[in-house]
Amino acid sequence: MPHPCPACADPRPSTFFDLPAVPVFCNILSSTQDQARAVPRGDISLASCPACGLIFNAAFNPALITYSGTYENALHFSPHFRAYAQSLAQDLVSTCNLRRKRLVELGCGDGSFLSTLCQLGDNRGTGFDPAFDPARAGPLDPRVTILQKLYGPDTAGEPADFVCCRHVLEHIERPLDFMTHVRRTVGNRPDTIVFFEVPDVAWTLEQLGIWDIIYEHCNYFSAPALRRLFAAAGLEPIATSSVYAGQFLTIRARPVEPPASFPHSPDPDDERFRSLIARFGQRQRAKVAEWRSRLADLAGSGRRAVLWGAGSKGVTFLNTLAADAATGLAHIVDVNPRKHGHFVAGTGQEIIPPQRLTALKPDAVIIMNPVYRDEIAAQLADLNVHAQVLEA
Ligand SMILES: [Zn+2]
Repeated sequence: MPHPCPACADPRPSTFFDLPAVPVFCNILSSTQDQARAVPRGDISLASCPACGLIFNAAFNPALITYSGTYENALHFSPHFRAYAQSLAQDLVSTCNLRRKRLVELGCGDGSFLSTLCQLGDNRGTGFDPAFDPARAGPLDPRVTILQKLYGPDTAGEPADFVCCRHVLEHIERPLDFMTHVRRTVGNRPDTIVFFEVPDVAWTLEQLGIWDIIYEHCNYFSAPALRRLFAAAGLEPIATSSVYAGQFLTIRARPVEPPASFPHSPDPDDERFRSLIARFGQRQRAKVAEWRSRLADLAGSGRRAVLWGAGSKGVTFLNTLAADAATGLAHIVDVNPRKHGHFVAGTGQEIIPPQRLTALKPDAVIIMNPVYRDEIAAQLADLNVHAQVLEA
């Protein structure tokens, strides 16, 4: 199905990977197994733009996306993730000289990252997030104000020295419109720094992080595609970096005069991505087949396996493999207490706290993200659970 590129409007994107009927929301909290299995579903059909390099879901239907209070994706219950956010904040304060500055964060969630930036550099921060829930947010730095609304020319308030936006752009159906909007709010202030963080599609394509392909993400960015998008909006990239063991991509940029048309300048990495995209479908199928056979071997030999990590990756793993109690995966562990006693969207496994493993005595624990390996191994040792740890 032809679909123009949502970033540069090139008419030639072609699809290269399909994942039909996946749960629209991985992190929705279902209180019964039936409810979990009946969640709304949507199709994924990944297309790549030959002109700007953007990868996007050509089957995305924005009408299916309405975030609600039963949505839970907080990652800060993990010490590893908290340590990462702290070190990123420290790095930004020093490299961008964020001291006694005015900061803005778009899609600030519970405000904890903005709060850290303000504490570290004696900054003042304004966060924008229509889904902000003061009842669930932790204590915030007194220099932080959070507005339960979208950021825009009418709500931007006083000019900011630093605009930050993490893990939002991959959810935006028209990314160029969004970036143009951000550029407009910065106005004629050449010293403003714009910082974004998104999942790095290089991880998905190269390291086969295939459990990161989810319906909520309508866009998937490589460094070249992200740089072109920013340049098109009049935000000149200063630096892009691969962080979080290669899973996230960050960009820092400064405002310049927007170009007359979308810049399609070639990038040394373009050929690498073309080749990865061409081979992706086949490599994804091979990985899924390998996991089917591993789960069948575990179940066939009477060994109990559990999954650790009921975030997007874990939910996608279970739905891709359509794993249910018959394949031996009846439980999924998560450290986020808000998820306990709820059920996995699409497949219906119960989400349990790590402490339940003491009674379950699993033979194998399948972990969804290698960056949590040490943290999970330490918790298993504390619980006196002796299980083989496998990386999904
Ligand atoms: Zn494009």
